[in-house]
Amino acid sequence: MPEKKNKKTDQKLSKEESVLVMAALSALKRSYAPYSRFHVAASLLCSSGNIYTGVNIENASFPASLCAERSAAANAVSAGEKAFKAIAIAGEKEGEIASFTPPCGVCRQVLCEFCDPKKMRVILIGPPAKIRVRTLEELLPESFGPDHLGEKRAPAPSAGKKKAPAGKAAKAPERAKKG
Ligand code: ZN
Repeated sequence: MPEKKNKKTDQKLSKEESVLVMAALSALKRSYAPYSRFHVAASLLCSSGNIYTGVNIENASFPASLCAERSAAANAVSAGEKAFKAIAIAGEKEGEIASFTPPCGVCRQVLCEFCDPKKMRVILIGPPAKIRVRTLEELLPESFGPDHLGEKRAPAPSAGKKKAPAGKAAKAPERAKKG
């Protein structure tokens, strides 16, 4: 096969990511899912270091419902964040996390807008003590993103002013403010 096999995604969580998992788990109780009773929470780690949570918000008009991942993304972007690093997702039914809850296709696409899919870590929280980590690119290969429209991905926000760790292969996010 000519296709290059990616090396395995590191399954170990950083300290920040462990906090992210706890944030998702504690947000679960705020899920509004009276119809499916499938409660989902997501917590999003931004390059500023800030964490934003979201829950699924169902609606009597079912198509108007919103996923937890997009709800977290809306919270983050509304607060001025445009660079995501990782997301943790948990889903439970009848008070029990019975399986991993991967993001739906629409949410994968929305997350893709605000991250480098190769680096964006998607942390799935499974039955007690189980974690599965994927990159967004693994979940959404050959994605359509801002670059296809000749746009750069949004730079990291200036608010947090966190320095990118030195010596990383990754280039520091460019400050490409327009105008
Ligand atoms: Zn979704």
